[in-house]
Amino acid sequence: MKIETQCLHEGYTPKNGEPRVMPIVQSTTYVYDSTDDVAAVFDDPTKGLIYSRFANPTTDVVEKKIAALEGGAAAMCTSSGQAASLLSILNICEAGDSFIASASIYGGTINLFGYTLKKMGIECIFVEHDCTEEELSAAFKDNTKAVFGETLANPALTVLDIEMWAKVAHAHGVPLIIDNTFATPVLCRPIEWGADIVVHSTSKYMDGHALQVGGVIVDSGKFDWTNGKFPCMTEPDESYHGLVYTEKYPAAPYITKARMQLMRDFGCYPAANSSFLLNLGLETLAVRMKQYCENALKVAQYIQSTGKVEFVTYPALEESKGHELAKKYLPNGTSGVISFSIKGGRNAAVKFMDSLKLASNEVHVADIRTCVLHPASATHRQLSDEQLVAAGIDGGLIRLSVGLENADDIIDDLKAAFANI
Ligand SMILES: *Cc1c(COP(=O)(O)O)cnc(C)c1O
Repeated sequence: MKIETQCLHEGYTPKNGEPRVMPIVQSTTYVYDSTDDVAAVFDDPTKGLIYSRFANPTTDVVEKKIAALEGGAAAMCTSSGQAASLLSILNICEAGDSFIASASIYGGTINLFGYTLKKMGIECIFVEHDCTEEELSAAFKDNTKAVFGETLANPALTVLDIEMWAKVAHAHGVPLIIDNTFATPVLCRPIEWGADIVVHSTSKYMDGHALQVGGVIVDSGKFDWTNGKFPCMTEPDESYHGLVYTEKYPAAPYITKARMQLMRDFGCYPAANSSFLLNLGLETLAVRMKQYCENALKVAQYIQSTGKVEFVTYPALEESKGHELAKKYLPNGTSGVISFSIKGGRNAAVKFMDSLKLASNEVHVADIRTCVLHPASATHRQLSDEQLVAAGIDGGLIRLSVGLENADDIIDDLKAAFANI
C-alpha cells in the first residue's frame, strides 16, 4: 500500500460485523477463563493483554499503523514525545554509559539528555549536526551505546545527513536513533536511510490538531544486538524470569524489551481515548503534509521576496541553508515550519508579531492552524542578547508554523504585519 492508503487502513481491519471505526477500549484490564490462561500471557505477554499500563487494543492499532508508516517491525506509544526520547535511551544505556547526540535538536531533549540523564549517570556527548564523518567517529568512547539526531530539527530546521550518521554509528556497533517529528514518515522514512530506531512527538503533525500530547518509538527490527555491546538484550532478564530478548523476540527485541521492562516499570502509556484521537490525525497525515509543504513553500517565497528579512530558513527553498541535504532526504517538502529574522531586530519582531491577526501567538508548532512564536521573548527569554547570539537566535528571529488555511490568506496577514513595522 502507498502511504495515503496506509494512513487509513494499517493497524485495523474489521472482520464480519465488527465496527468500521476502531473502537475505544476503555478498560484497564482483561478477563481470562482460567488461572492457566493468565499464566500463559505472563509467560509471553505478546500473546495476550494483561493491563493497560503497557498495552491496550486501541493504542495497539495506532502502534501497528505507525510501525507500518515508518517501515519498522513494531512500535510502542508513550504518553509524550519526551517519554519516547527518554525510553529510547534508557532501553540500552545505564549508569556509566554514554551516547552521542546532535547539538541541533529540540530544546526539551537537550535538557533531558544534558541535565536529567546526566544526574542518572548517563553522559550525552553533543556534536555539531553538520560534523564530518571523522568528527562524529572521534566523539565515540568505549562506553558509547547509541547515536541520536533529528531529521529536521526543531527549531533550527537543520537537516541531518542520516545515511552518514547511520554508517558511523554502525561502524562503532551501536544503533542510530532518529527523532522524525517534523518530517513525519510522509516526508522522510529514516529507516530507509539506515536508522535503527525512530521516535516521534505525536503531539505535532501526527496528531495535527493540537488535541493531545503523545509520543512513539519504532523499532526497525534490523539492528544486530548480538555484537557483545548489549548484554541487556542478549543476557537473561532477571526481572522477567530470565528471558533473553534477542532469543525469544528476534523480530523486534528492542521494542519488546522497552514494553516489558520500561513501560511495565514507568507506566507512561497513553490513554485509549488519546490513541483514538491520534488515529484520527494519522488518517489524514499524508494529505495534510502535502498541503503544509505547498502552503509553507509559497509563504517562504513570499517572505524571501519582501526584502524585509535578514534570512529565511526553510530547507525546501533554494536560497535556504540545508537545501542540498533537503533535496536528498526531504524531496517532497520540509513541513510547514519556517523561521526568519526580521530586519530591525527585537523591536521590529515584536511589532510584527503583535500585528498578526490570523496567525496565533502560541507555544506550539505543527498545528492545523497557523501559529507564530518569538523565541527571544518566549522559549529563550532568560537569555541575554549575547547568549541569544551564541544560541543562534537573534532578537529578530520568528518561528512561523504554517497551517492549512488558504496560503493567500496567510500571506495577506503577513503583508499587513510587515506594513506595520
Ligand atoms: C515537541 C517535540 C518533542 C517533545 O514532545 P512532547 O510531545 O511535547 O513531549 C520532542 N522532539 C521534537 C522534535 C519535538 O518537536
